[in-house]
Amino acid sequence: IRRHDGVYRWFLFRANPLRDASGNVIKWFGINTDIEDRKIAEAALERSKTFLAEGQRISSTGSFSWRLSNDDVTFSDELNRIFDFEPNTVVTFEQIAERVHPDDRPLLAEKMAEVRDGLDNAEYEIRLRMQDGTVKHVRVFGRVFRHQDGTLECLGAVQDVTRRKIAEDGLGRVRAERAHVTRMMSFSALTASIAHEVNQPLAGIITNASACVRLLAADPPNVAVAMETARRTIRDGNRASEVVGRLRKLFSKETGRSERVDLNQAAAEVVALVMGDLRRNHVVVETNFAESLPTIAADRVQLQQVILNLVTNASDAMSASDRRQRVAVICTACDGNERVRLSVHDTGVGVRSEDVEQIFQPFFTTKSSGMGIGLSVSRSIIESHNGQLWVEPNPKGGAIFAFSIPVAAQAMPAP
Ligand code: ADP
Repeated sequence: IRRHDGVYRWFLFRANPLRDASGNVIKWFGINTDIEDRKIAEAALERSKTFLAEGQRISSTGSFSWRLSNDDVTFSDELNRIFDFEPNTVVTFEQIAERVHPDDRPLLAEKMAEVRDGLDNAEYEIRLRMQDGTVKHVRVFGRVFRHQDGTLECLGAVQDVTRRKIAEDGLGRVRAERAHVTRMMSFSALTASIAHEVNQPLAGIITNASACVRLLAADPPNVAVAMETARRTIRDGNRASEVVGRLRKLFSKETGRSERVDLNQAAAEVVALVMGDLRRNHVVVETNFAESLPTIAADRVQLQQVILNLVTNASDAMSASDRRQRVAVICTACDGNERVRLSVHDTGVGVRSEDVEQIFQPFFTTKSSGMGIGLSVSRSIIESHNGQLWVEPNPKGGAIFAFSIPVAAQAMPAP
């Protein structure tokens, strides 16, 4: 309706008839309400909702509210999308936990307990496993507010950081390549000592071969002794070629023998081997093996070297810390569809974040009698199996060293 000043305003018209006994309309009662201000407020609200929703969609960030008094949880549309829940779902903790990657469920439980205990400013990353098996990485931020009635509410944002993670992984691969190059360069020191080793048999070959020529040129030729020097020449030649073989193996990215390996069994054998030594250091090894783990195509002995190295390092790290509890836990698990993972969890001194890259470099050690070779060789072994070896902090304190390797192709013969 146009007002006296010529401005059109929105009105709400309501009219009700008054009827007689036989239903005929006698009169109309009407009320006209000026709802222009409400309309403006509604439009502003709509705009602000669209703003918020678009902002959430563009930044892949959903929001949630969690009332601590009755565990009521509300997800924004974007968060439902990130979790792959139907729009307007009434979300339950069971549904959330089911979506969280099984390995990260303890972390979620721990973070939720912290919020209940009054910790504000929660911030952590967690993985979701979607119904089709894909994994999403999300970053969670939470703040706790106290309402006037004293009840608490946690308001938070959850950002889907999967794309960033994938980019970081790509960067990780480039770094691994660079690490390989650095490793080759750092091996120059090792090469020098190997050259020294090769030099000895070479010198022997020349001495023996010269003696052989002399003995044969003599009149009469001393064939018996010449034969002996010729044999020594062969022996030295073989020794030199062994050294060269070792060197090539060290530098090659190829695996040795590839067979079907049951990771649980390979790890159990390593545990049996080191149990006694570790007990002397008051270290206990526990295992948490996944059932029916698929086999992998691998060089069994090389993998056992890696596991042995990780367990020994875990034991060293715990002996160096003053924690009383010294338990190394070896876990195996299926990692996605195509990979198996083994991780060694310790509660030792842990790895400082600035050392994370360095510890995989050759000759980096913090131990008085360390060589600093173990992790660098372990990484090249795992990479030569198309896998990855990494370290992450143990939420319980200490470190988790883990590797994952693709499962064996179906065509592999059984062992
Ligand atoms: P070394 O055992 O001879 O030191 P490695 O290459 O196996 O050589 O390890 C390199 C370094 O990485 C160690 O000196 C140590 O500082 C660090 N490290 C390895 N494993 C652990 C662990 N489980 N906890 C803490 N630090 C570790």
